[in-house]
Parts: sequence; C-alpha cells; structure tokens
Amino acid sequence: MIVGVPKEVKQDEYRVAMVPAGVEELTRAGHTVLIQSGAGAGSGISDDQYAATGAQIVSNDAEVWARADLIVKVKEPMPSEWPHMRAGQTVFTYFHFAADRHLTEAVLKSGITAIAYETIRDAKGTLPLLTPMSEVAGRMSIQEGAKYLERPFDGRGILLAGVPGVPPATVSVIGAGVVGANAARVAAGLGANVFILDVNLDRLRYIDDVMPQNVTTVFSNRLNIRECLQFSDLVIGAVLIPGAKAPNLVTRDDLKYMLPRAVVIDVAIDQGGCFETSRPTTHANPTYIVDDIVHYCVTNMPGAVGRTSTYALTNVTLPYAMQLASKGPERAVKENPALLAGVNIKAGKVTNQAVAETFGLEC
Ligand code: NAD
Repeated sequence: MIVGVPKEVKQDEYRVAMVPAGVEELTRAGHTVLIQSGAGAGSGISDDQYAATGAQIVSNDAEVWARADLIVKVKEPMPSEWPHMRAGQTVFTYFHFAADRHLTEAVLKSGITAIAYETIRDAKGTLPLLTPMSEVAGRMSIQEGAKYLERPFDGRGILLAGVPGVPPATVSVIGAGVVGANAARVAAGLGANVFILDVNLDRLRYIDDVMPQNVTTVFSNRLNIRECLQFSDLVIGAVLIPGAKAPNLVTRDDLKYMLPRAVVIDVAIDQGGCFETSRPTTHANPTYIVDDIVHYCVTNMPGAVGRTSTYALTNVTLPYAMQLASKGPERAVKENPALLAGVNIKAGKVTNQAVAETFGLEC
C-alpha cells in the first residue's frame, strides 16, 4: 500500500505523523511511504533522515494526497487540503468532527474513510491515542506554571522548589486523571507541596499509593477546592467529564481567595476550562490576568514541545497505521474493534453516533 504523510498546515502545529522508525517498519513490510519534503522540520527530523529509512520524499502535498491510499496526519484536514481528499482514500488523524460542521460536510462530500485518533477505544475502554498528549500536557503544565510564577512573567516571584530555609511552593491539581497525575508527579519531583483533588475515590486511593510523600489527596468539592485555592501558588485545572463541557469548579468570585499573582494553568480549556474566568489562548500570547491572577489557557499545549509530542504520538499510532496498511482498511477495521470505534465517516455516511447526533444526521 502507498502511505502518505503530508506536512501539517495548521498554524503553530510542529508535530508530524510519522518518524523515521515508522517509515522503516512500513517499508520493511513492503509498503511505500511518501513524506512531504519538510514535514519533519518542526520536530527536528530532516528529509535525509526519512530517506535513510526508505521514504520517498515528495515535494508538495498535492502529490502526497494524489498518490497515497492511506494518509496519516496529526491535525484534521484544513480547508486548503479538502480538495485533495478523494473517494476510496483512508485518512487516519485527529478529526474532532463535532467541533467543526464545515469539516464534517467536506469529509462527507469527499467519499474518504475518516478514522479519528480521538475515538479509537481499546479493550479496557480507554482512548489510547489521547493518553500521550494528556501525559505531555500534564507534565508541561508544571514547567509552564514554574515559568509564569516568575516575576518578569507577572507571577508571584516564587521558585517551585524553594531553597534551604525558604519553603517550596504549593501546587493544587484539580482532577487526578492522566493530566493531573502527570502534573502532580512533576511538581512533587521539583519539591513542591502538592494537593490533588478528584471526585473518584478509587483514583485518589491509587494516587495515594503511587505518589511520593509530598503529594496529598483531597476529595473534590466546593469547600475543599476553595481551601486549596487560599494557599496555592499554582493551580492546575485537569478535570474531564467525557463528552461534556468541563464543569466550572472555580468561579470568578473564588479568585478573591487566591494569593495575589498566583498562576492558573487550565489544561481543561480545550473542553471549555474549569475556571469561570478561563478563555482560550495561544502559544504566541499564552497568558492574561483577571483579578490579579495569572491565567494560562493554551488549547494545544503539546504543540510547543513538538518533538516530544511527535514521538509520544507516533509510538501509539504506528501499530494502527501498520494494521491499516498491511490488512487494508476494510479488513483491519473488521478485525480490530478499537479501529472500528475510530471510523467516524465512511464513503459519505457518518458512522459515529456522537458526530451524527451533533449535526442531526443519520448514522
Ligand atoms: P482523565 O479522564 O484522565 O481525567 C479527568 C479526571 O477528572 C478524572 O479522574 C475525573 O474523575 C476527574 N473529575 C471529574 N469531575 C471532577 C471534579 N468535579 N473535581 C475533580 N476531579 C474531577 O482526563 P485527562 O486525559 O487527564 O484530560 C483532562 C483534560 O485535559 C481534558 O479536558 C483534556 O481534553 C485536556 N487536555 C488538554 C490539553 C491542552 O493542550 N490544553 C492537552 C491534553 C489534554
């Protein structure tokens, strides 16, 4: 099969959908891999590195799309890419259809099979192609929080780790899932006092078992959240209610309990955020201040660490891409329920219940 990897065209997107190790695996299995020239540049991977593992370097995206049976991408196809999609082709990428009616209509019209990373569901019921990006965002939230606590970035001027004779910072993490656990681990590793809140007691038991002594678990309710706000230098929003908008757990009024120039990193902003005062920001302009609290609400945090994110993502996507290429999409999807759950649109028909319901379409 011919597998094509175009250069991502979305603004501030530095990831690429395949690394040289993936090219090597696919070509060893007898497939042809087309890489658009420069596709890996944002992640520090050169055309020569791809070519050395057997890729054919193609000069423009039109040729990649025209020749490939299977397109592997990172972000949803952008309007400039829509004319390239063609019936019979399979496109494997993040789509997030429910957020974009125009994209949904373009994909329906094109006749492609759209397999969405975000709805691939494994036997344990987890979403394996979302997990690595939550790991990246969780760990990165502390790195960003540490930076914005610095005075030149408008923060309180606090060093997370403290120094001998001066106590470390206090970090509260609301939500103890993948993002929250990764944030807590990094904050604890730096020496901060960490509080982590969740409504799921089993999850808190697990966190209590595996985290170091400087991580304290707290049941999440309004009173406990407010208490944690009062002494926290850094607060991480990491809540998710699957399929729903994030709940507003911290109101604007609650900000008055917080320390002046404390920092909020609302990772859950891609689902609306768990602070009432959160609004989406970009890497170019990541923070703003409301009531003397620094807010950081970047919706695509992993994009800033493109190289790490590329490798983390391709570790989990390659086995699926390999099945699609080797068995052909029809058989691969029939034989693997995880991949079947990823099929959102097939040959002009919506096949995912949530997407159909969003747009009032038949499924
Ligand atoms: P997850 O499902 O692993 O964890 C969410 C946790 O929130 C669960 O443990 C759940 O019990 C808990 N929760 C639900 N209601 C709560 C409440 N009222 N109080 C406290 N905890 C509560 O999800 P995740 O993978 O950790 O993702 C968290 C959020 O981060 C999601 O919205 C995800 O989309 C987002 N995210 C954003 C970026 C970004 O770049 N901004 C990147 C990756 C993930």
